Amino acid sequence: MEQVPTPFGHTPFGKVWLVGAGPGDPDLLTLRAARLIMQAKVIVHDGLVDPAILALASPKARLISVAKSRSRHTLQQDEINALLVSEAQAGRDVVRLKGGDPFIFGRGGEEAEACRAAGVAVEVVPGISAAIGAAAAAQMPLTHRRSASIVSFVAGQCKGLTEQDWTGLAGKGRTLVIYMGLATADAIAEKLMADGLAPDVPVAVVENATRPEMRILRSPLAGLGQLVSRHKVKSPALIVIGEVAAQPADAPLAALALEAIQ
Ligand code: SAH
Repeated sequence: MEQVPTPFGHTPFGKVWLVGAGPGDPDLLTLRAARLIMQAKVIVHDGLVDPAILALASPKARLISVAKSRSRHTLQQDEINALLVSEAQAGRDVVRLKGGDPFIFGRGGEEAEACRAAGVAVEVVPGISAAIGAAAAAQMPLTHRRSASIVSFVAGQCKGLTEQDWTGLAGKGRTLVIYMGLATADAIAEKLMADGLAPDVPVAVVENATRPEMRILRSPLAGLGQLVSRHKVKSPALIVIGEVAAQPADAPLAALALEAIQ
């Protein structure tokens, strides 16, 4: 009898699926991601993946957490790579579930490289990156015909913040979205102002975008560090810098969550 093809296909060795889990709300999974999660026998997930999404997995699935935090690593990146490869070489299909999109600051590129280097087939399923989810949830368009036609995504915490050249990424007509920027929020504001950005450029911090506990906080650039500490903003959060960060001025639902500081 002909076998019914599964989304995992039929390869002698397992395959690794790098799957984007989106920013939190399970409804923002792609259909492909949802199907893979429901059918997976092995799911290797990081800490950003919402428990409501993991709840979609079969009770029989093996869930392996490889959560990382800034100071504490349960598994180093090379150990994660090795885990994916060894599971696949043992003949098991692996869903590697990552917050947002696997190829935006998710180290998905390194995991795909490791799989390819070991001869393991890998496929990538895109997810809604935090910036896209936050923009929608906050009704804050990242581009706007009147105010922004360029948008940049940058990592605020990575090797050598001070060495990174952000010249021209923020300013008139531009939106800058900073991932992993909480710990360095003060330094980021200083750096941008030293590069000539006005201290009153609007900034929004979106914490837990798309989740029930989402908070949206706004301030001028000069107050960014203070905003983060005063409101005890916790990870995961994004910092949006540019004229669009002052939006929406008129959306009643989002306005409920807005706390402007002068
Ligand atoms: N691959 C992920 C990003 C991983 S880096 C993506 O595409 O979204 C981790 C950073 O993403 C966090 O430090 C935070 O800045 C951001 N982030 C992830 N989920 C978020 C959420 N729900 N709300 C706000 N920021 C989020």
